[in-house]
Amino acid sequence: MLKLKNLSKFYYSKGIIASGLNRVNLELFPGEFVVITGESGSGKSTLINVISGLDSYEEGEMYIDGKETSHYTVNDFENYRRSYIANIFQSFNLVSSYTVFQNVELVLLVEGRSRKDVKGKIDAIIDKVGLSAYRNTKVSKLSGGQKQRVAIARALAKETPIIVADEPTGNLDSKSALGIVELLKDVSEDHLVIVVTHNYDQFENCATRRIKLSDGRIIEDEVIKPREESKEIEAVKTTPMSWSNKLQLGFRNTFNIIPKFLLLLLVFLFLSGSVIMQYAGIKANNDAFEGWGYNSFFQNNNDRRIVVKHSDNSEMQAEDYEELKKTPHFKSLFKDDIILDLSFSTYTPTDQNENEASQSIYVEAHPAPIEEMPKKLLLGEAPKADDEAVIGVYSMMISKDELKPHIGKIMDITDRSGTKYKVKITGAYFIDKQKNAKDASNVDLSASGKIFLSDSFLSKARTSQINSISRTEVLINGKKYPLMASSTSGGGQFTLYASDSVSEGYVVVPEEVDALYESGSGRWKNLVFSTKNIYFSDSVTLTSVDTYTKNNYKNKLNTDEPFEDVSGRIYINPEDFNTLFLKGNFQSTVYIDDRKNADDSVSWLNKHGYTVVSLAKAKEQFIDTDIMNIITVPLNLLVVVGIFFICYFVIRLILRSRSTYFSTLRLLCLDMKSIKQILDVELIFIINLAYFILIGFIRAVATDLISISYLKPIFEFLKISDYIVLYVIMVILAYIISRKFSKKLFKKSAMSTFREEV
Ligand code: ADP
Ligand code: MG
Repeated sequence: MLKLKNLSKFYYSKGIIASGLNRVNLELFPGEFVVITGESGSGKSTLINVISGLDSYEEGEMYIDGKETSHYTVNDFENYRRSYIANIFQSFNLVSSYTVFQNVELVLLVEGRSRKDVKGKIDAIIDKVGLSAYRNTKVSKLSGGQKQRVAIARALAKETPIIVADEPTGNLDSKSALGIVELLKDVSEDHLVIVVTHNYDQFENCATRRIKLSDGRIIEDEVIKPREESKEIEAVKTTPMSWSNKLQLGFRNTFNIIPKFLLLLLVFLFLSGSVIMQYAGIKANNDAFEGWGYNSFFQNNNDRRIVVKHSDNSEMQAEDYEELKKTPHFKSLFKDDIILDLSFSTYTPTDQNENEASQSIYVEAHPAPIEEMPKKLLLGEAPKADDEAVIGVYSMMISKDELKPHIGKIMDITDRSGTKYKVKITGAYFIDKQKNAKDASNVDLSASGKIFLSDSFLSKARTSQINSISRTEVLINGKKYPLMASSTSGGGQFTLYASDSVSEGYVVVPEEVDALYESGSGRWKNLVFSTKNIYFSDSVTLTSVDTYTKNNYKNKLNTDEPFEDVSGRIYINPEDFNTLFLKGNFQSTVYIDDRKNADDSVSWLNKHGYTVVSLAKAKEQFIDTDIMNIITVPLNLLVVVGIFFICYFVIRLILRSRSTYFSTLRLLCLDMKSIKQILDVELIFIINLAYFILIGFIRAVATDLISISYLKPIFEFLKISDYIVLYVIMVILAYIISRKFSKKLFKKSAMSTFREEV
């Protein structure tokens, strides 16, 4: 069945050609037990490696079942080896981390057999080689003799017609050697057995033929026992390894060496951890910058604030307030949103003596309704009258002792339009010493103070604010004049001012108005006041009853303000003022629990017919995050690439210890593609494991199951889509590592990896 004709093999090394085999002529038949002997270096191994298809030859011809092989490709030889040859080596070439059973099974899985089918067969073979007791023992724990039995069992399982053994007893004591010889003798009944040995005596009893080599030539070829006329033995039929077998082996390899597994897991944890940190870092960064900055339109730029109005600018009703409270992530409601953006300043009245004035306080404060006031105050008590208020300040700005003298005093409050109000401060507290300081509805980052005011006061403030955002005009003697918001006057403009000293329906004008009439007096003339803003428009017609001058204004208007403040004001009754400006509330603020949830809340509000501005989103940014990303993303990527290479080298070091395993697979004739895939399974499995361990950790941190405060803000921003992106990145990284490694592994031929190990 095997025929060598004038076959020669040369070795080239350092320019010198050495002869491995020299014109060998040989014919081998089924049923023979061929023992090859010869001095060391005589070419024994070379001969059987050529016969095994592990090595090539340069001259002559080898026939397999009558077919020439000189044109064979690597692939052809691999197929030949698969169906004809089972090798047994002096150094066993077993997978030492596998059990006896798994080693035998391996060769069958490689041949594409299913695991279930081969179980009985494997047990029978293990029994045959006398290792039943060691079926589930790892090969690393066996003696040399036992290992060689496993190697024989593996060769038998392969069911090939030819078994080639290169010094199978070379590493064994004589007793173990004897057992191996016996086994091979048994086997030879239905195989062509070719054995290389130093020690012919061991095989004397079973050899049917003895071949002696010297210097690459056959110098003796002696048939000891004539072979029986046995039937031609058939080549084994093999199928490509199935995917389930590859998965099977991949999983087995993942766990079978625990320290290797843990080390790889650690490296992949590090790798996926770094990728996630870099990734989450970019995201958290972007978000942090979105969260900073300021908004020039909304002064109170608390990022949990969502400003809400009707899409048609209609008035907010009681039902609206109820509905707004149902907003997802709702925390609190501030109905009169429009005055949230007033900055109130409070300072001690000017009529106090110098000493006390020097201790005056000035606080930028956001107004709030009394019901939101904390129950426990630091000083004083809750307001009782409409013109009383409680202030909230930061303890780092003012001490309790400094605050104390102001309690019970009248303070000036000035709104953004410049209108001044007088309120009595009945109590005070420290915003930052509050129990739920962070939860308090509208404590914001800008360290503004707070002032709690009665509803009637707040609506007065709202009216004034509406006045300031409205386009207000007065029609005097057929001509329209713009009216400025209260005290922003200047340049001879008229301003509209509410005062109790003017009766309803009437108006008191400065003397400049009289000058607009030919008669020089506007008394009893009708003036038409109109107002228009984004929410509404209205007008009132009032009758001019009086004119004031610098000399008489104090009496007529019952005020002691300096004339510069009063000049240009057109005085009307507060009721008329309200008719123009107090039209209910049109804009509210919903505070949510966390800026992260803003999108959610906004879309709900939109769906319910509100137009909204989320301050978390609307802030002008100090730094454009897109520009930030141009710099940081490549930097982060660079770090990831660096980490990737570090990991790759560590993984290669770890996997190098496994090259024996892969060369064993190659000796068992597994094709390169399948070997790569088995490695892929192993690495991708480990990276999955690492990834899911990390995700578990991240979720635990994000949900406070594990409390690591400096990681939480980084992890909080990861969404499901981010996890998916990360997962894809990780799998690709594992795949690249696997590819790079196997490429390296297969640079060398099977034979040379094999030789290195022998
Ligand atoms: P044996 O197995 O009988 O000890 P080998 O077949 O291993 O002998 O070697 C036969 C001859 O070929 C020796 O002279 C050896 O030096 C040479 N040889 C074997 N392998 C190589 C090789 N890879 N490169 C160069 N020379 C080799
Ligand atoms: Mg040898």
